[in-house]
Amino acid sequence: MNPTLSDFYPSNVFKFCPFCGANELVWDGVKSHRCGACHRRLYVNEAAATVALIVNAQGELLLVRRKYDPARGTLDLPGGFVDLGETAEHAIIREVKEELNIEVTELQFFGSFPNRYLFGGLTYFTLDLVFICTVHDLSPLCAADDAEACLFIAPQKINIEEIGLESIREVIKSYAQKIRRW
Ligand SMILES: [Zn+2]
Repeated sequence: MNPTLSDFYPSNVFKFCPFCGANELVWDGVKSHRCGACHRRLYVNEAAATVALIVNAQGELLLVRRKYDPARGTLDLPGGFVDLGETAEHAIIREVKEELNIEVTELQFFGSFPNRYLFGGLTYFTLDLVFICTVHDLSPLCAADDAEACLFIAPQKINIEEIGLESIREVIKSYAQKIRRW
């Protein structure tokens, strides 16, 4: 039987207490481990990540092709993790600049989408914070950093099977539904 995401949850991977080193971590079934030796807790939380919805004058959505795992080679929306101590607003502006060489001038919060994926033998939990991003000048656009290429596709023409990450599929479905109503 193929291993599943849950086989690589922190509760199945982490065995040793990071505080005292004892092999006595016990998962509480919800959100933390407790060490049977020193009684301290190790919490498991969703990591904050950002996602950008950027459209051109024709209303087509800007997608990137992922250069790295997880889901290398699949289509994705621009974005990335929020660094320690960083705001989500700063993170999305920084990530769009790093990946696409364009400047976001306005942000509007769209919604949040939980995600989980396997990477390097551990299942990671993220909360993708999605922003509609205004970019006045798309002419400097070029794929860099962890984007291998970028392309514009009309939201209703995006083949959802080509989107590698589950949460991003949900973002695109949700966005395509909303613009039909706007
Ligand atoms: Zn301990």
